[in-house]
This record gives sequence, C-alpha cells and structure tokens, in this order.
Amino acid sequence: MIRVLHVEDEILVHLLIKKNLIEVESDMEITCVNSGKDAIDLLAKESFDCVISDYQMPGINGLELLKILRKKKKRVPFIFLTGQGNEEIAAEAFRLGADDYFTKEEGFAHYERITNSINKQIRAHQEEFKRLKVENDLQMRQRQYSDLVETSHDLIFKCDDKGCFTYLNPAWEHTLGYREDEMLGHPFKEFKTPEQAEKDLMRFQSILKGQDTFGYETVYISKDGKPVNLLFNAKLLLDSEGNLIGTQGIAHDITVRKKIEGELRWYEYFVSNSKEMMALVDMDFSYLVVNEAYSSAFRKTQDELIGKKSSDIFGEVFFNTIVKPNAERCMAGKDVNYQEWFEFPKAKSKYMDITYIPYIVDNEVKGFMVNGRDITALKKTEERIKESEKKYRQVVETTNDLITRVDAEGKFLFINHMSEKILGLPPEKCIGLSAFEYIHPDDKENEKKIFAKWLAERVTDTSLESRWVNPNDGQIFNFMWSVNIQYDANGHFTGVNSIGRDITKLKLEEKELKKLLKLNQVILDAFPCVALLLRANQEIVASNLAAKEVGAYPGKKCFETWGQRSDPCPWCRAPIALSTQKKIHIPVEGLGKIWDTYWIPIEKDLYMHFAFDVTEQSLSEKQLERLNIELIEKSKEMEGFLYITSHDLRSPLITIEGFAKRLDYVLKKVKTLIGREEIPPSLMKEFENLFMENMKESVEYINSCVKKMNNLLNALSEMSRIGRIPITITDVDMNRLITKIKQTYEFQLQTTGATLKIEELPSCKGDKKQIDQVFSNLLGNALKYLNPKRKGFIAVSGKIVNDKAIYCVEDNGIGIPPNLHTRIFEPFHRVRPTEGIGEGLGLAIVHKIIMKHGGMTWVESKPDKGSKFFFSLPIE
Ligand code: ADP
Repeated sequence: MIRVLHVEDEILVHLLIKKNLIEVESDMEITCVNSGKDAIDLLAKESFDCVISDYQMPGINGLELLKILRKKKKRVPFIFLTGQGNEEIAAEAFRLGADDYFTKEEGFAHYERITNSINKQIRAHQEEFKRLKVENDLQMRQRQYSDLVETSHDLIFKCDDKGCFTYLNPAWEHTLGYREDEMLGHPFKEFKTPEQAEKDLMRFQSILKGQDTFGYETVYISKDGKPVNLLFNAKLLLDSEGNLIGTQGIAHDITVRKKIEGELRWYEYFVSNSKEMMALVDMDFSYLVVNEAYSSAFRKTQDELIGKKSSDIFGEVFFNTIVKPNAERCMAGKDVNYQEWFEFPKAKSKYMDITYIPYIVDNEVKGFMVNGRDITALKKTEERIKESEKKYRQVVETTNDLITRVDAEGKFLFINHMSEKILGLPPEKCIGLSAFEYIHPDDKENEKKIFAKWLAERVTDTSLESRWVNPNDGQIFNFMWSVNIQYDANGHFTGVNSIGRDITKLKLEEKELKKLLKLNQVILDAFPCVALLLRANQEIVASNLAAKEVGAYPGKKCFETWGQRSDPCPWCRAPIALSTQKKIHIPVEGLGKIWDTYWIPIEKDLYMHFAFDVTEQSLSEKQLERLNIELIEKSKEMEGFLYITSHDLRSPLITIEGFAKRLDYVLKKVKTLIGREEIPPSLMKEFENLFMENMKESVEYINSCVKKMNNLLNALSEMSRIGRIPITITDVDMNRLITKIKQTYEFQLQTTGATLKIEELPSCKGDKKQIDQVFSNLLGNALKYLNPKRKGFIAVSGKIVNDKAIYCVEDNGIGIPPNLHTRIFEPFHRVRPTEGIGEGLGLAIVHKIIMKHGGMTWVESKPDKGSKFFFSLPIE
C-alpha cells in the first residue's frame, strides 16, 4: 500500500484527483490536508511514501512547504500538482528538491503519468534510501572500528616496507610516552635497544616474506627510558591491488604481566624457601597449598598434605580446642594471631607464633592463610629477659643506692624506694617533682648549670658529687652520681639515668682520714727520729721533719741525703724486708751514733724506714741495767735480812716469853705466901701493892708486847717468805676461789651482820695460793674497817679490760683519807695506828704478790663512805 499525502486547499479538487489516482493505482491510500502547516504537523507524526502538493495555498505555499521539509531533511518524494504553474515556479521547485512537477490537467492519461511518477519517485527514493543506509552503515562501522582502534588499550600499528610507522593508535603514546608525531615516519628500531632491534628486524623481514607472526615478544624503551614488554601479532599489508605496502598488526603491553610473572616466581620461591610455615586452607579446613617448611614440620611431602584435613594433622582435641576456634574467628573476616606450644612428630615441642588471615576471593571468604613462626628461642629469651628484669627490679628495689630517671627539666620520671629515706616521700609521689628541689641550696644553681651544659654538649656518661637535703628533717646526704644521658636514634634527648651512692659516711671518714693523716704527719714530725716512706729504689716518697732537716726530701735518694753517701748504706736492710715482706728491727752504728732502726714493708715496692738516735739512751740503759741488778741484789739482801731477823728475833722473844711465864708463876706463889701470919700487916700491905699490883701489871705488859712482837715477826717472816718463794702460774677460776674464801668468812659475816655480794668473775693466770691470800687480806680488811654505825655491805666484782682481768673488793666502811691512798700499800702504814688489831703489813703483802704477777694495785676511797680496792692480773 502506497501512502500519499495530498496537500490541497480545494476539497473538490482533492476528491477529483484522489478518484483519478486510485483509478489508476488501486493500491494507494491518499490522505488530504488543506494547508502546508497541517502537512508539516502530520508528517511529523506519520510517515508517507509520497507528498503531492498544490502550489497556491493560503498560508504556506507549496514551494515554502518543500523548502521547510527539505530543510528538515525529510527525504519523502515531493511532487507538485498545481493549477497555474509556470516554468519559473517549476525551476524553483526542482531547485528546492522537488521530484516532479505537474499541472492539473484533465484527462486519464495525465493521472496515469502522475501515478507513474509517484511510483517512480517512490522507488527512486527507496533506492536512494537503501544506498544512504548502506553508506551510513558503512560509515558507522568505520567509525566504530576507528573508535575501537583509537580507544583500544592494545597498540595498533601500520608500517611501510622499511619498517617506518605509518599509523599508530593513541595507545602507543599512552604506553611509550612518545607523541604520535614523534613516532610516525620513524623506523621501529629507533625505539628499542640495538640488540632487540636486530632481532626484531629479522622477524620483520620474515613478515614481509609473508610469514604471519603471532605472540612475538619484544621490548620497547619508553620515552622515560623504561623497558616495555610487548606481545606482537603482525602480518603483511597489501594495497587494493595486492601490492605489498608494509606490515600491520597489534601489540599488547605485557609489562605488568611480565612483572607479575616475575613476582609470582619470586613469591613461589619465597613461599617454598621460607623457613616460616605457610599454608592455604579452605573453609572445610582442607589444605590447598602448603610450603616445604609446613609439610616437613609434619614429616610429610607437600602432595601428601594437600587435600588433607587439618584435624587429621593436629588430632581432634588440639584441632577443636586451638585451631578451629581461631580459624573460625579468622573466617569471620578478622586477622587472628596467637602463640601456642605445638607438638610436631619426632621433634621437641615448639612455641609457635601463628597468624591466620582470611583468604578472600571476589569479596567472599574462601578459607584462610596460615603463617607459623617458631618463636621458642624468642620465648626462652623473653623468659630470660623477664627473669633478668625481675633480678634487675630486685636490685633496684633492694639497693641502698638512689636510682633515678629525670627529664630535661630534671623532673623525676622514675625513682626507687630510696626516695623514702632521701626525699621523705614514697616513689610514686616523687614523679613529676624536680630533683633540683632536693639539692643543697648552696649547690643548686651551680648544678643546674652543669646539667644544662651536659645536655648542650651532648654528654652521654659522666659523674658528679652532689649534696642532697631531706626536706623533712634537714639531713644532708653526700652522693656520688654515675650519670648516663640517653638520646634516641635521631639524637634527641630522651632522659637521664643516674645511680647515686650515698658517700656521706665515706665523706666523713675522708674528712677524718685527712685529719688523721695530718695528725700522723704532725706526730711523725714530732717524732725524734728520721721517718721515711720509700720506694724499692730508695727514692723518698714522704718524710718527716727530722728527715727534712738532714735534706731527706721526697724525690731524693735516701742514702744521698741523710745517709751522706753516694751508694746505698751497707747496713740497709730494705731489700731483705721487701723480699721477705717482714719487718726488720736492728741497732745500727753509723754516722758516729747508735741508731735503733726499722725497715717496715708496706707494699711490694714500698717501705717505711725509721731511725731513732739512741746513743744517749743506750748509755743510760746500761746504767739502768746496772742499777737494776744492784736493786735485785739489795732486795734479795733485804729479804735475807728480814728472814734472819724475824727468825733470830724469835728465839730471844721465846726466852722473854718463858721468863714472863715464870715470873707469873712466882707471883702466884708469892700470893699464897703473903696470906701467912708471920708477915706483919704493915709489910703485908706493901707486899700486896708490890707483887699483886705493880708486878702483875708489868708481867701483863710484857706478855702483850711479846704477843704483839710475835705477830710482827710472823708478818715479817710471811713478807720475806712471799718475796722468796717462786710463783706457780696456772689458770685460776676466780669464781671457785672466791666461793671457798667466802666460806671462811661466813662466821664473821654473821656476827657483824654484814652482807657479801659476789658477782661473776673473769678467770686469770696466777699462783692460786697467793691470789687466795690477796682476796683473804682484802676481804679481812673490808670486814675489819666497816662502819659500826651502819649495816655492812661488801661486794666483789671483776671484768676484763684490754688484756688484763681487773678485780675489785668494795665496802661501805670507814674509808681512807686521800693522802694515804698510796702509802697504805707500804709496810707498817696504818691510818689509825692505835685502832684495832693489825700490823700494817696486809696490804703490803697484797701489793708484793700482785707486783710479782706483773699486775697493779690501787684504791679509790672516801672517808666515811667506803673503799674500793682494785688489783689487776694477766689473763694470758
Ligand atoms: P692492818 O690492817 O693490819 O693495819 P693493812 O696493811 O692491812 O694493815 O692495812 C693498812 C691500813 O690501811 C690499815 O691499818 C687501815 O688503816 C687501812 N685500811 C686497810 N683496809 C681498809 C679498809 N677496807 N677500810 C678502811 N681502811 C683500811
């Protein structure tokens, strides 16, 4: 069906034309519009095979309609059918693109022509349409291809037969960095290394000979000098006549692939050679990949493990308690890390650091990757470090040193327990406080400067003596600080670690020592001898005043100065003293004098030398010795004399005593005779007076004198006996001895009502019998000289002082005036000669016995208060 649009303002004309046209061509449908505008509107909505238009119409005329349609590129056939056409309009119509031109004539043949024209125009239009369509399609395809080529990531090229580029798509610039104009017309060999170019030219020749190339790998060098791997497909390029004009082809940038291949190889190498255990496990805990380290740990080959379940390898229990829970957390999308002891076949258990990482493909977890590292050694080291850290802590927490760490301002970052003692605060309260606050006010500013200087000069290790003050009690501490200043890798300050040793005592000792040294020097200087400190080569190190007086100054040789010789003195014993390390003490005659000399080794190379001038002393010593001998002889003489007198006086005394007794007898006889009557009473009275009173009294006097003399003689003879008998020294248990002595005084104690207190006594060395006598005499005196007005109290005590035992007998008796404290130890000295019984020899005997033992006697006493008698005895 041919659809025709008829544009005609006269409806009757339209109907006529329609009737005539359909009569000729029944397969035609004619639609009528009565204006140009309606025609344009309808053509916009519907398609028609042909437009037949009148020329003369109200509004837009036929030519204007055609013009509009053609402008709108409406390719529909356009035929004019006008009432009053002329050649001008016809020419204009054809110029504007009309396809035919008819006038409205009568007659069937006319309509036949029009119908034929319609059919012809429609056909022509259809053919034109087809042609245009083919052309359009072709153009389209060409554009598509060219778009493809232009936007392709692959590198597309054409070359002439010399190998110069004739076409390059933009991918070349993108890949190699050269602009199109920098490559076009240039031979490809310019863009590669000479070796590669040589290889590629050979390939190019073979393409020219008709050999197609697929998958040829070559390397271009990009504009910035980097190698670019390309994979080439290329073949001959012929013109339309089949003449060879070059080659064409496509290349693919495989640099990344190459790199990945390389990396993959590296990864494979790394994974298979890694000492760490690596595995890839799927969601069902089956191994997908394991490396050598992994499989060999389980004594299996990689193939044996792949496909196996991890529970088979670890055992159900370990798998369910350790592996599975961790793996499940990982497969929930988290990286998991844990450390655990693992048992491996035929190996000691190992402490492993295990990491599970989710294995994600296309955003989906497909399993997990395992990485296992043996950190047994690390663990053990860690434990050792922990242990040593613990020890370190113990040291820090128990040391008596003050340990601190301070920042750049001197504020405490750390302080150990010693803070309590030094700062008066527990460690935690000290953090942040400034250490400078505790430095002695006199030193603070100076020490701040020193601290700043350390930091400025980048000092690392140093030391410092510093005085600190405890703010609570003002106690001053002297510290010797070992300081270590720390910096990080970039040289930035990080902190100051210090250990402070309390040298307060040392300081005092040092002070004392200095004093002592000074004192020593003073003493040495005051010493009436030459005192030298010398080296083995006899060089003087130090000397005293007396030495300096003879020129013996430090640095000089001993023999050259006071030895007054050019070579070592012949009597010098220094070499022997140094080699034997023993003191040598000998008298030396030299320089016209007698010297008492000492060589005292101090160290291997150091000794002291003393030389005392004893010339005079040795002379007087000789005199003394002589006097001593004389004294001993005199003393012996005295003792002999004493013995003889006491012995010889005894016999006349006995005679006197005998005659006195006889006289007494005679008197008694006379008494009986006087009673007789033959004696006159006057005489009787006289006799009685003479015999019974005068004579009796005389005889009594004689008797008492004899008794007294007898006592004196006994005491003298005892004195002489003690002087003569030798002493037998043994260990004396004084406690036993005093207990025995006490028993002999028991009666006297009871009668006087006095108390005797005996303390624990030290033992000593001596003659038991004689010491017994000493105690007896002293106790006897203590009892004898008690004050009758008060209750008597006696005490015996003793103690060791140095190498002597000192004993004391104390009483609260009448006491002794101070002027007689020494005299009472002399024979016959009595404080009150007429009072009480005694010969004044008891203390003399005590003194003599003690002197013979090498001891001493003395008394401390106050009249009417009491006395303390002391004596000392050796303990060795
Ligand atoms: P004697 O006791 O026989 O007189 P001594 O030699 O024992 O002789 O003592 C000398 C003197 O020292 C005594 O006469 C006495 O005056 C005095 N004397 C000794 N012991 C004591 C004593 N414990 N208290 C007071 N006087 C003492």
